[in-house]
Amino acid sequence: MRAMVFDQSLSYRPRHPDPQPSTGDSLLKVRRAGICSTDLEIAQGYMDFHGVLGHEFVADVVQSPDRSLVGKRVAGEINIVCGRCDMCLSGLSGHCRHRQVLGIVNQDGAFADFVRLPAVNLHVLPDSIDDDQAVFIEPLAAACQVVKQLGVSRSAPGERRWVTVLGDGRLGMLVAQVLRNSGLPVRVIGKHPEKLALCEKWSIRSRPLTEIVPRHDQDVVVDCTGSPEGLELALQMVRPRGTIILKTTIAVPKPIQLAPIVIDEVTVMGSRCGPFRQAIQQLAEKQVDVASLIHRRMKIEQGVEAMHVAARPGVFKVILTME
Ligand SMILES: [Zn+2]
Ligand SMILES: [Zn+2]
Repeated sequence: MRAMVFDQSLSYRPRHPDPQPSTGDSLLKVRRAGICSTDLEIAQGYMDFHGVLGHEFVADVVQSPDRSLVGKRVAGEINIVCGRCDMCLSGLSGHCRHRQVLGIVNQDGAFADFVRLPAVNLHVLPDSIDDDQAVFIEPLAAACQVVKQLGVSRSAPGERRWVTVLGDGRLGMLVAQVLRNSGLPVRVIGKHPEKLALCEKWSIRSRPLTEIVPRHDQDVVVDCTGSPEGLELALQMVRPRGTIILKTTIAVPKPIQLAPIVIDEVTVMGSRCGPFRQAIQQLAEKQVDVASLIHRRMKIEQGVEAMHVAARPGVFKVILTME
């Protein structure tokens, strides 16, 4: 099969071995897959991963122990878990001690013609979500996780809290829309005028980073900068006893002064994967605009170039097509 592989360096392989499904696995034929910042970080050495990249995808089920799934179009949750460890047994299977993560930890990913994934990880998609939109389900679920961690639901909006999303990139723009949908007053701080104009279209307030005077007045700051400087800036913006949610994962660490967290009694929360069902529902109900977040579609044969395009500053989602 065709595949995009990272092994010391990035390469496109026209004849990579097909995945071999083990017990419980489904074999999927990938339609499209999205390049995310995590893939770009892995190509810089993050997680020390070697293998087929890619974890945001839409695919057709070719083979499955669950016969009802065969022929269905699906998205897939990326954590492959043991179901037996203390984390799994306490309902935190996303933190399974023995987990593999699609295209990130010990499991080949979806930048390929075929991928394998346990049948329990799969979500059948409604026709109202097209293939391009479906590629956004995984990152949109990660965005929904922010709302979940803040403890607000769409049906019962919480007390008014001032929320700033730092970063107008691929993930920041999803987080901002999901926060808006939850009824929280949200604003985006970014660097790119054309992206901030999109916020206006979505009725989300925004400000250019250059105009920001950090006032320690935000109840919640969500760092989606993907930059080592994000946390530092968030600390200048969050109010005493406020909350910072970190979405940024970076390959290169940077020393940071932790004293402000102690002095201002700031809660710092990490945030990773999220609820697929909510993401699918919000897309099906057209509550999130992802079409505006597509930069370009490229064939898997152009995968190496596609990764370079996705790494350029300000570029939104690059989608690899396997058709
Ligand atoms: Zn991702
Ligand atoms: Zn486990």
